[in-house]
Amino acid sequence: APTGLDADFYHFQDLLTPVEQEAALRIRDFMEREVRPIADDYWERAEFPHHLIPGIAATGVIGTMWPESRTFENSALFRGWAAVEIARVDASFATFVGVTSGLAMGAIGVGGSDAQRAQWLPAMGRGEVIGAFGLTEPLAGSDTARGLRTTATRRGDTWILDGAKRWIGNATFADITLIWAKDIDDGQVKGFVVRKDTPGFTPAKIERKQSLRGVQNADITLEGVEVPETDRLQRIDSFKDLAGVLGPTRIGVAWEAMGIAVGAYEAAVRYAKEREQFGRPIASYQLVQQKLAESLADVTAGLAVCVRVSQMDDAGTRRDEHAAMAKAFCTARMRETVARCREVLGGNGIQLDHGVARFFADAEAVYSYEGTYDMNTLIVGRAITGHQAFV
Ligand code: FAD
Repeated sequence: APTGLDADFYHFQDLLTPVEQEAALRIRDFMEREVRPIADDYWERAEFPHHLIPGIAATGVIGTMWPESRTFENSALFRGWAAVEIARVDASFATFVGVTSGLAMGAIGVGGSDAQRAQWLPAMGRGEVIGAFGLTEPLAGSDTARGLRTTATRRGDTWILDGAKRWIGNATFADITLIWAKDIDDGQVKGFVVRKDTPGFTPAKIERKQSLRGVQNADITLEGVEVPETDRLQRIDSFKDLAGVLGPTRIGVAWEAMGIAVGAYEAAVRYAKEREQFGRPIASYQLVQQKLAESLADVTAGLAVCVRVSQMDDAGTRRDEHAAMAKAFCTARMRETVARCREVLGGNGIQLDHGVARFFADAEAVYSYEGTYDMNTLIVGRAITGHQAFV
């Protein structure tokens, strides 16, 4: 394989263009040099390494999707590989990038007017403006399509937002948070760019999280938050428009899940070759080899799904259920893989220093965010049967 990733067993990276392969290597180099040495410590302290934002932005990985912010031509396939390269080192960092680049920039890219796109996307791509995406609420998780309580009330050229959001990644420090709220006049969901320090907008860090500890999530209260009409996303008129943002990001999470599986697999292979029991490396025993071979097969199957669904994305033939299947399938394979790899390390598998425990814990959040396994499975079930089972 051009980039020498052993876990890329079927050489999927050969499908990238030379420019994309070079960019993938740039990202890998940054992650290995800057992030790997500190990832465990930041995770343990539940802190985010803010000083690395300019460096990751310099790799060109933020805002790769949009003409206003991308620094080179690239495919959905490349954007997926970029998520693998980041997540195989640190899933918290991958989540930070996914939120500002995929969700927040995606919302502006899909829903913003030309002027709004020009206003935000270039600066966000350079990492100078960080974004968050506030959809989930304390009382609306899987059912945000119908259950949002946060309201938007229009008074002339100003909107007033009231309500609460939960689990919002990056929102403790983001410069802008995309807030989704129901217009009390027409009952439709609208999107608003809310700037940090707007009176009435109060994010509070969610403490004691045991997964993705290196990235911060916020509970947000919105009390009479005033947003000018010019900061309402002009091309979002309903939840259906918002759903257009979530297709690509769900695929991004499927790739991210494979990155997490690759990270755990690589650590397990390394450990199995070094650790000796009964006078021989544990890698020489059949049951250990079986765990490694099954893990590599899961990674390969998941990557194959990701590659194909991203190709369909590029071709414009990808539907919501295709993204949902990729997210559900890949996060399930990830969960099995990190558990198997954890087992290969025995007791050391539950300790941060040996390279698997962090992935094992992080997999749980990735399994549930961007639509739980159940919800994504039911979206596929609806496509198969024509019956919607979740309402
Ligand atoms: P619930 O919806 O309460 O679900 C609980 C359980 O019930 C799940 O197993 C679910 O599958 C099941 N269930 C629910 N309804 C049905 C049904 N009809 N049929 C069968 N089973 C059902 N949100 C944002 O807006 N922005 C973010 O940046 C963000 N980041 C996040 C980061 C982390 C670390 C986490 C944990 C979450 C984040 N989220 C974010 C929220 C995330 O998208 C939600 O957690 C997710 O959609 C599930 O909602 P919930 O947690 O409220 O679970």
